[in-house]
Amino acid sequence: MIRQFELLERVKAYDPALDEDALNRAYVFSMKAHGQQKRASGDPYFLHPLEVAGILTNMKLDSASIITALLHDTVEDTLATLDEIEKLFGQEIARLVDGVTKLSRIELQSDHSRQAENFRKLFLAMSEDIRVLLVKLADRLHNMRTLSFIQDGEKRRVIALETIEIYAPLAARLGMHEMKDELEDRAFAELNPDARASVLARLDFLHEQEGGLVNSIIEELKQTLKEAGIEAEVSGREKTPCSIWTKMQRKSVTFEQLADIMAFRVAIKTVAECYSALGVLHGEYPVVPGRFRDYLSTPKQNGYRSLHTGVIGPQRQRIEIQIRTFEMHETAERGVAAHWQYKQDAGHTDGRQYRWLRELLDILEHASGPEEFLEHTKLEMFQDQVFCFTPKGDLISLPSGATPVDFAYAVHSEIGDTCVGAKINGRIAPLRTQLANGDQVEIITSKAQTPSPTWERFVVTGKARARIRRFIRSKQLDEYLTLGRAILEKAFRQEGFEYTDKALKDVYKTFKHDSTRDLIAAVGSGLHTGRDVVKTVFPGIKSEGRAMNIIRLARARTKKRAKEAAQPISVRGLIPGMALHYANCCHPLPGDRIVGIVTEGKGVTVHTIDCPTLESFADMSERWLDVAWDTDNVEHHVGRINVVVINEPGALSSLSTVIAKNLGNIQNLKITHRSTDFFDMVIDVEVADVKHLSNIIAALRATPAINSVARARG
Ligand code: MN
Repeated sequence: MIRQFELLERVKAYDPALDEDALNRAYVFSMKAHGQQKRASGDPYFLHPLEVAGILTNMKLDSASIITALLHDTVEDTLATLDEIEKLFGQEIARLVDGVTKLSRIELQSDHSRQAENFRKLFLAMSEDIRVLLVKLADRLHNMRTLSFIQDGEKRRVIALETIEIYAPLAARLGMHEMKDELEDRAFAELNPDARASVLARLDFLHEQEGGLVNSIIEELKQTLKEAGIEAEVSGREKTPCSIWTKMQRKSVTFEQLADIMAFRVAIKTVAECYSALGVLHGEYPVVPGRFRDYLSTPKQNGYRSLHTGVIGPQRQRIEIQIRTFEMHETAERGVAAHWQYKQDAGHTDGRQYRWLRELLDILEHASGPEEFLEHTKLEMFQDQVFCFTPKGDLISLPSGATPVDFAYAVHSEIGDTCVGAKINGRIAPLRTQLANGDQVEIITSKAQTPSPTWERFVVTGKARARIRRFIRSKQLDEYLTLGRAILEKAFRQEGFEYTDKALKDVYKTFKHDSTRDLIAAVGSGLHTGRDVVKTVFPGIKSEGRAMNIIRLARARTKKRAKEAAQPISVRGLIPGMALHYANCCHPLPGDRIVGIVTEGKGVTVHTIDCPTLESFADMSERWLDVAWDTDNVEHHVGRINVVVINEPGALSSLSTVIAKNLGNIQNLKITHRSTDFFDMVIDVEVADVKHLSNIIAALRATPAINSVARARG
């Protein structure tokens, strides 16, 4: 167990800015908070945060990280609250502890192993401050070191699996190879003890055979470089059992030689010397073709920098050599964590690091002190993505700005198609809500629901957009067909004929369509009038006069048929925005007497019968369509009213109160004219039907603050 003063000394050794008092208080606070809690090992729980803090001192992290490590489990596992921590340790520590707590909660939420990549991204995205992630990694490392104390074998397996699939790659991504190796090896020992044992046995055998070979190679390499005037540190590094095993699996090879398990590392002061050393070694020993890599001039994506080469080296052994500077070496081992140490001379970095690390360093160069630096070290990674959970805990990755509709389509097309609502973190939220990282999203579906054309305005994923468009297209076609048939039936009857699809068999080509269906849809969309089609089918019909005669005759002939001809087309089942549109000039409401105007390529626009706009269609009787409301329709409609409000305090509030009291929902409000005495306004109100709107108008007229109200026309 690390004693309180030891911890203090360790941090003091590299962080002169240490707040001794805060560290001491955190130590005591955590010890008291965890009280009698025990670890699976039977040790006092407090040993765990203490060890995590110890791991972070080895990484030479700042005192805020160390304090956070001490406190990291208090909010989740003890009675301590975040408020308390903020009061005692300040905002920065509270924010860091909160970050670690959030990650721990995410960790508990789900079976993540199936979606390891997304989880890694979520962790990165949620760790606004990189120190949160470092504390979490150290936490996991200590939990892995004490894994064997957990009795439940399945639990151990799950933890090990998470470690190998999520935490080890995260450590690698942050360039922390030492951390990655230990996490991976401990997980490997749990998950595949037999494989590990066989690799270790094989390694033992090789070590026996080798008999001091590694040391003599190191000595000779050092000597060779020294003779060329290059001062270098040379070391041998063995691959971990886990990485040997992975390589064996991937390439189905066995390992027999030193080169398979060992890399020799040459660390030098400057980059220029690295290249000189490479020249010296290539001059001295035969080069193994195809092994040379220059990650100095072209670093790996995670910022790794080194020269790699293979030679037939000392003792005629095929060996792999990695050449880099001390600083690169340190970075390769400790990654991001190493940068705390190098912050004093960060000017040396040439910027070819991870994009976000480069940003960190950029801030570093321009920050006046470490405080400001840390203040700004927010991770910018994956800012363009959000990660959300299904109720079962599956993780869905979406572009930022995504809504529950995108989420629904990402889960399954059918869920998207039938989605009617969403609960975000247990609360009903509008479908257009933008999702945030870590949100749990439950989609409410109804078999009767179909995609709404309005969704297209707010979805951001290609999948959702494509499905909605495809639905709109097919639905539109259906509606055009329905409408087209109704228009044709009417047109045929007006000429005294009975309509059947068959009647179009010989004429669709005349209209340049590929099928009867296409022609019907084209009529529905307003490309041709019903009359045009009738005239083509029965070329004998020439004049209006004759047609009128026919109508009269037909009507006289059978009253029944005449009645059918007079039957209006119901707007039932037509979805506004597709084949059917409500006119913006008169905002027809259920209960209004209405008429349809066929608009070329758009379907039908519905106007109230007294709408002034209709005058402009007076000469185009062929485009008029008799339509009627479908009374079962429950959708909301928008009524538009013109209101003149007296300019006095509270007038607007009494206006909105009256509308709300009468269950109208104001959708839009615009002041069109204002004078000292009056405001003229246009208000769009969601109502059920014309009666509903009339009630609202009447109530408004009875309101003292309102001068006049009228329904908007044209
Ligand atoms: Mn912990």
